[in-house]
Amino acid sequence: MTEIVMQNLGRDFGDFTALADMNLTIGDGEFVALLGPSGCGKSTTMNMIAGMLEPTSGEIRFDGRRMNGVPMARRGVGFVFQNYAIFTHMSVRENLAYGLKAQGVSRSEQARRVGDIAELLQLTPMLDRRAAGLSVNILQRLAIGRSAVVEPAIFLLDEPLSNVDAAFRATMRGELKSLQRQFRQTMVYVTHDQLEAMTMADRIAVMDHGKLLQVGTPLEVYNNPVDTFVARFIGAPGMNLLRGRVTGADTGTVIDLGAAGHSGPVTVAQGGEVWFGFRPELVQPDAAGPLAMQVSMIERIGARIILHLAAGDHLAKAVLDSETPVPAQGETFRFSVPQTEIRLFDAQTERAL
Ligand code: ATP
Repeated sequence: MTEIVMQNLGRDFGDFTALADMNLTIGDGEFVALLGPSGCGKSTTMNMIAGMLEPTSGEIRFDGRRMNGVPMARRGVGFVFQNYAIFTHMSVRENLAYGLKAQGVSRSEQARRVGDIAELLQLTPMLDRRAAGLSVNILQRLAIGRSAVVEPAIFLLDEPLSNVDAAFRATMRGELKSLQRQFRQTMVYVTHDQLEAMTMADRIAVMDHGKLLQVGTPLEVYNNPVDTFVARFIGAPGMNLLRGRVTGADTGTVIDLGAAGHSGPVTVAQGGEVWFGFRPELVQPDAAGPLAMQVSMIERIGARIILHLAAGDHLAKAVLDSETPVPAQGETFRFSVPQTEIRLFDAQTERAL
């Protein structure tokens, strides 16, 4: 219920710049994921939004009001960390009611809101259990509930699912999304897991080395990564990138990929070296295709096959459905990539062409 604006936001620790010149507007009621590898500055950004850390440059505004210097308690933010902070001597119900009590909400209203949030997060059966004896999964669910129940205008979650098991993580992805839909809070979610960001966020802000690289909807960053880092980081497996050279051929301009053959016709303004990018799931087996690589490994994962491919210095993966006939390990796999699915990146700058 609040718009967050970060303008030229930066944070140094001594000589080290943890975040540089961040410009990002998070809309009222929007769910934005800050995504990037460990140490890229996600938590630094989040802590500055929360008011736990002061910027060394730039500005943060909530609905136009400057927040620099405003203490956390007066920012109207709810914060859930990787390591949940739960009062273990209290029951689940008491933990959920804690913030409402502190706000002076009436007893009947407390009961109603605790009941609702417990239902939403499937905590109803354990409302009267003491938190001390609960599993990590339930405790993290409770931590989320305890922050959400006070309906903060801004809800900040820093890797809230990294300590829970995989099956539970999948369930929680759905629950967090519906929680946010219901309350329409502005939600900022820190994660290094691209799947979490892709499945939950309205927009993803991809970061690396203290810099914001790209902001867009999950589909935008998946389809049109701004550089090779984003191309590799988004998707599982990430985008294939083969180093090649722009060359003229009878069929028009193509990318010469040496041992792997060449691309189909491409439109590219520059000559020289490029990265030829394509998504593993958009590879088309094609006996007459211009690309050929050796199968180095075959992984069968349920409904998918992942072919690991190699040719000279090139490595790539192809994701196919399990019905697709594939060559044996060591044999050659011929394929093509639809022209519209080819992404080219400058080999020097690593930027999309
Ligand atoms: P992670 O998921 O590992 O927490 P992150 O993307 O959240 O990664 P940050 O915690 O924001 O990264 O840290 C960014 C960089 O700033 C890291 O290199 C970290 O070592 C450094 N850093 C963070 N806090 C401090 C501090 N108080 N003093 C010195 N360096 C710090």
